[in-house]
Amino acid sequence: MWGGAGAAVRMSTLLAPTLREVPAEAETESHRLMLRAGLMRRLAAGIYSHLPLGQRAIAKVEAIVRQEMDRQGAQEVRLPLVQPEELWVESGRSAKYGEELWRLKDRHGRPFVLAPTHEEVVTDLARREISSWRQLPLILYHVSNKYRDEPRPRAGVMRAREFVMKDAYSLDRDRDGLLAAYARMRAAYARVFTRCGLDWRVVEADPGTIGGGDTLEFVALADVGEAEIVWCEACGYAANVERAEGARPAEVEAAEGADGGAAGPVRIHTPGVRTIEDLVAFAGIPASATSKILFLWAEYAPDGRRELVAALVRGDRQLNEIKLANALGAVRLGMADRADVLAQTGAPVGSAGPVGLRGARLLTDLEVACGGAFAIGANQEDWHLFWAKAGRDFDPGQVADLRLVGAGDPCPRCGDALRGANGVEVGHMFALGAVYSQAMGALYRDDQGRSHPIEMGCYGIGITRTLAAVIERHHDRDGIVWPFAVAPYHVAVVPVAAGEDGTREAGERLYAELRGAGVETVLDDRDLRPGAKFKDADLFGWPLRVTVGRTLRDGAVELRQRRGGLTERIQLGGAAAAIRARVAAGLGETEPPPGHGSQAPDAPGW
Ligand SMILES: [Zn+2]
Repeated sequence: MWGGAGAAVRMSTLLAPTLREVPAEAETESHRLMLRAGLMRRLAAGIYSHLPLGQRAIAKVEAIVRQEMDRQGAQEVRLPLVQPEELWVESGRSAKYGEELWRLKDRHGRPFVLAPTHEEVVTDLARREISSWRQLPLILYHVSNKYRDEPRPRAGVMRAREFVMKDAYSLDRDRDGLLAAYARMRAAYARVFTRCGLDWRVVEADPGTIGGGDTLEFVALADVGEAEIVWCEACGYAANVERAEGARPAEVEAAEGADGGAAGPVRIHTPGVRTIEDLVAFAGIPASATSKILFLWAEYAPDGRRELVAALVRGDRQLNEIKLANALGAVRLGMADRADVLAQTGAPVGSAGPVGLRGARLLTDLEVACGGAFAIGANQEDWHLFWAKAGRDFDPGQVADLRLVGAGDPCPRCGDALRGANGVEVGHMFALGAVYSQAMGALYRDDQGRSHPIEMGCYGIGITRTLAAVIERHHDRDGIVWPFAVAPYHVAVVPVAAGEDGTREAGERLYAELRGAGVETVLDDRDLRPGAKFKDADLFGWPLRVTVGRTLRDGAVELRQRRGGLTERIQLGGAAAAIRARVAAGLGETEPPPGHGSQAPDAPGW
């Protein structure tokens, strides 16, 4: 990570416009600091110009990613950002992506899209260039801007419309080859995020619009993160809450205190009861002994067909819409309004229930379907059924795991209580299998001349998002606290006049020496008060600050570490060598030990 003699700069010439005020548009600390420390500026909603310091930090993350990709034998390519839309129609993703896919037309009216990712382009390349088993396996990767027309860009580069991403694609002969590539990429990702100084977890996730089978998400822990994850300390199970499985309840547990030994549901007059809270207050039963029905419109590809869906979950649970969409095979869900529900089913929303429900497709969460008896609406205003049981009193329809799992819920593997945290999704990998190669006809011939679809995997790292996650984790009230591995520069030499002669010259000499030694150095040669320079140095977050000032009369300079604030005197003679050694040690801090991140694919993620 030595930048060479050129990687040094004078502050007086650097475009790094700082802001004293916290910009109103910024909601997260990383967003605020990337603006305040002059790393980037907004051009349009979710679209940013990265200024020299931001670009250097991005390049550091990219360099780490490239090293780890190359270490695993992946080959770098550069793929087009403008792609013919017909490829996306062929793969079926044009409809699935919907409005997020940024569409444009060329002068002849031919439709194109701005790349949100490159599965289609790589599959197209594979079907043209790969014909024999001898050409496999292969892992290709590239680093480029990506485009997603987010409905609500926010948090700076965390959820931007243009962002930098590394995406990789593995091409294999069979499932075993794919799993080997998947394990190698997982090991590479573990090293990348550790080297960037992140506290991360790897969790099971939902494949979403990518499709295919297994998928893992790498999540950097951060309170502001949009990703919610749960994990089990006992057995290592870890998942995004979008994906986290509900533990299958024991029959007795679900029925606890609710069955009352009744032989069938009991119809009870419940005047004014509309919500679960009302029902709990009215009947004096826990919310877990009630269930509720939610009505949604489900939309299907490719014809846009819609149907009204009724999802039944326990009264104290939340519906996980992603699980519901997956159970249905729907591309989109939307809440149905009261009027639609009444018109279609004849049931008022606050009193709807599964017994005798018509006009909507019923799905029942397995917790409700598994045995217990629940209080539920009777499809008539002011009436509820008590001790209603799936299977006995109503046909549960499609039974599926539909509820949102959170911290404190039992682990689906071992039953221990799950822990939860928020985080930023910085990496994602998918064992796609033959989804794309079959849809687009990417086939190879084996040694017997038989034709097979290529087994594919895809692997993304949000580069700019990783950078934001690094800042979320490494900052204090004064500014950024860069880990050495991604700091735009490692050392700031800050001459402060303070009535002393020769500080400027001594600063210049030290700067030249550090520069000559290949240390990435900033010289604060601006005509500012010491306090202003120190404040800026803290905001910029240089890992080391060398103050050339008062101590010069003793032939010494002051070396201060940004992290922890430890300050010490070092002799000016030999200072460059001492600082260089500190930088080397700092760069080693986040270097994973040998063998780290090369665990078997089925080992727990941390
Ligand atoms: Zn567990």
